[in-house]
Amino acid sequence: MKFDIITIFPDVFEPYFNESIIKRARAKKLVQIKIYNLRNYTNDRHRTVDDRPYGGGAGMVFMVAPILKAVAALKKKFSGKKLKTKIVLLSAKGKKFDQKMAKKFSKLDNLILISGRYEGVDERVAKYIADEEISIGDYVLTGGELPAMIVVDAVVRLIPGVITEDSLKRESFFKEKYIEHPHYTRPEEIIINGKKRKVPKVLLSGDHKKIEEWRVDS
Ligand code: SAM
Repeated sequence: MKFDIITIFPDVFEPYFNESIIKRARAKKLVQIKIYNLRNYTNDRHRTVDDRPYGGGAGMVFMVAPILKAVAALKKKFSGKKLKTKIVLLSAKGKKFDQKMAKKFSKLDNLILISGRYEGVDERVAKYIADEEISIGDYVLTGGELPAMIVVDAVVRLIPGVITEDSLKRESFFKEKYIEHPHYTRPEEIIINGKKRKVPKVLLSGDHKKIEEWRVDS
C-alpha cells in the first residue's frame, strides 16, 4: 500500500515513520510512504500556498490551486492502472476517524492525505477534490501533519504481514467495541505513593484457562 502525504512541513514525518513497526513495514516493502511539499506545486517565486479569506476574518487559508496541482501530479502517476485509491483531507470538522475506517483504508492501494494549516483549506478542496474529510478527534490542532501520521500509523498496523494475525486479533477494536485486557510486567510488586501495588494473582497462577477468563472479564 502507498501513502502520499501533501504538506508544507515535509520534515516532520520521517523521524516518526523511520522507527519501529512502520520502519520495518517500509523495509519489507509492505508499505511505501511519500511526502510531498505543497510549495513545490506553486507558481510564484515566493511559493505561496495561502491567501486571505473571502468575506474577511482572521488568518490565512490554503488556496485550491497548489492542492489541485499536487493531487493531479499524484493521480497522473497511477493513471491507466486500476488501483483502489482515496483522497482524504484532514480537517477538524470531518468524519471521526476510527478503527473501522482504518480497516477500510488498509484495503486500498493508495491513500492521499492532505494536511492543512493556518485557518484551514479552501472549502472547494473538501467539496470537489477530496473523497473524504476526516477528523482525528473533537479538538483543533495546529496542522494536519499529526492527524496524517495517526491515520498512517493506524492503517499500517492492519496491512497483512505488518504485525502477526494473532496479535491483531487480540488488540482493542479488532471486534466492535472490544477493548484489550490490561497488561502487567515485572516486578510483581511495587510501591506507588506509599502503597504496595501488585500484579493480579491469577496472572501468576500459570492456570491458562483462568488467565483467559480473567482477560475476557477485565
Ligand atoms: N479553523 C479551523 C477550525 O476551526 O476547524 C482549524 C484549522 S487548524 C488550525 C489547521 C489544520 O489542522 C486544518 O486545516 C486541518 O488540516 C488540521 N487539523 C486541525 N485539527 C484537526 C483534527 N482534529 N483532525 C484532523 N485535522 C485537523
